[in-house]
Amino acid sequence: MKNAEDLRALLDRIDRRGYPAYKDTKGTYAFGKYVLGIDHVQGDPFAAPSKVSIHVSGKTAGFPAALYNERHRRIALQDYLLRQFGRWIDDYSFKARGSGKSGLMGVSRPEQEILERSACRIEEKTGDICVRMEIGFPANGRTVNAGELKKILFGFLPECVEKSLLYASLPAGKLRENADLADDQQYIREKLAEQDLVVFVANGAVLPRESGVSDRPMKGAVVFSSPKTLEVTLKLPHKGELKGMGIRKGITMIAGGGYHGKSTLLEAIERGVYNHIAGDGREYVITQDTAMKIRAEDGRSVKNVDISMFIRDLPNGKDTKSFYSEDASGSTSQAAGVVEAMEAGAGLLLIDEDTSATNFMIRDELMQRVVNRSKEPIIPFIDRVKELYEKEGVSTVLVAGSSGSYFFKADCIIQMDNYRPVDITEFAKKEAEAFRVEAGEAPSYERPAFARCPMSDKAVWDNDRLKIKTMGLDGILINKETIDMRYVEQLVDAEQLGALGYLLKYAELHLFDGRRTIREAVAMLSKLIAEKGIEAVCGGTYLPIHLAVPRAQEIYACFNRYRGLRL
Ligand code: ADP
Ligand code: MG
Repeated sequence: MKNAEDLRALLDRIDRRGYPAYKDTKGTYAFGKYVLGIDHVQGDPFAAPSKVSIHVSGKTAGFPAALYNERHRRIALQDYLLRQFGRWIDDYSFKARGSGKSGLMGVSRPEQEILERSACRIEEKTGDICVRMEIGFPANGRTVNAGELKKILFGFLPECVEKSLLYASLPAGKLRENADLADDQQYIREKLAEQDLVVFVANGAVLPRESGVSDRPMKGAVVFSSPKTLEVTLKLPHKGELKGMGIRKGITMIAGGGYHGKSTLLEAIERGVYNHIAGDGREYVITQDTAMKIRAEDGRSVKNVDISMFIRDLPNGKDTKSFYSEDASGSTSQAAGVVEAMEAGAGLLLIDEDTSATNFMIRDELMQRVVNRSKEPIIPFIDRVKELYEKEGVSTVLVAGSSGSYFFKADCIIQMDNYRPVDITEFAKKEAEAFRVEAGEAPSYERPAFARCPMSDKAVWDNDRLKIKTMGLDGILINKETIDMRYVEQLVDAEQLGALGYLLKYAELHLFDGRRTIREAVAMLSKLIAEKGIEAVCGGTYLPIHLAVPRAQEIYACFNRYRGLRL
């Protein structure tokens, strides 16, 4: 392998030459404590910056194996190192100068959630660390400015590595705390399953966020405190005893007046499928991993979904056992969402009336009397919610502030009162008794078969000119067609969309053969990522540095919204 001095000599040789001379720097170089990989070199100073990777062997990095030999701790350490590295990088970005993106030093920016990212990987067995970043190779106009690049590669970068990727330079106590938090979060996840809980919200948690555009905790918020009747006590391995509200399997309704904090609680629960960093306020808000937010999504595409358990006998005679729409309505989109969630293996549905189609959620009594059931194609969610739990094992947590109908169905009713949860189950049930009406049984349903087998569209995917782009959290652009992901609310980071683009491409090229079901394809993808990392689905000559691993549920959500899916 070439070393740092070789690189220095090479840079001296190409100084002041045309910018493309930088291409010769591609390769790997031994730099004492790490290996520098110049993986991709930008074509000109205004193009996307060059891709660089830093490889520190486990031996040199010196982290105790206990900090990375279990998956949840490894992910927590990767996240921690990436944040530290990013802090140092900030001090140096654009300190080297020149035209265009000269001197830019960038790395992935995690926010409140702890995700597995291509920007920082630690090998579980060896502790080898790889950090991937971007650097704008400096230019004067359009000529190589080797002196400025030398500042970065021989001055700034070694400093950043030294300060943030070596165990000896980092505060051991903080690293320990970081791993301990990951252990405690993992422990709560395991306890949920053991104790038939789907959600745990710790006393003292801060649920509301600073603002609509900031995901940091609100200052001066009313902290969460469980009603005594719903309180459970967990004994975390590190933090010790922790009390909080445990939501049991079954049907839970969150009621309460407008502005009392219902949606805020539900949103915290939605995000609880991810771990949060210390200080977030939601560190100990943990939700069953498979939970899926379900909402109305007018206009979305639905392909071959059996929504007959909710919608049947449409006046236009359309088949709802195999329902297709390029422009689904509020109710059909939400029905498809529920069935797709079942297909995705969700054990918990999260629904907010604010974002639901009313006619999908309820039919009031007067309407039932006036318009006979046989004339109504929609069997509302309220008529299926019990069966969903009892027959399919799918629990529901639902926010409903304006309709009392769910009082009859809910196993547990929580009222949010000035941001404080109150258990009103008994009271609400008693009040509801006086209003009970015989609505008659909902017709029985056949469980959807979940046997959808997509067929690859090779013309699109096996094509050198294929372009995949992401648009923040809003969607993924495949050539000129958008996969609209705006309403997939449990996507929390634009890097997850980046990964979804690659996952879809991989599935189209290798898995969608017309015989394999979506279920099987997603299971294979999940296994592949778990074993080999997101790298495994990327191909190409170098790994994209801005990818974050999505859950299987979001992989489904992406495939289900891709209008080009051949089904
Ligand atoms: P609802 O869904 O019941 O109408 P929201 O959850 O939307 O109410 O909350 C209304 C407002 O109250 C939001 O601006 C939210 O940030 C704020 N809020 C929510 N929970 C708290 C809390 N625990 N402490 C302080 N403010 C809160
Ligand atoms: Mg609300």
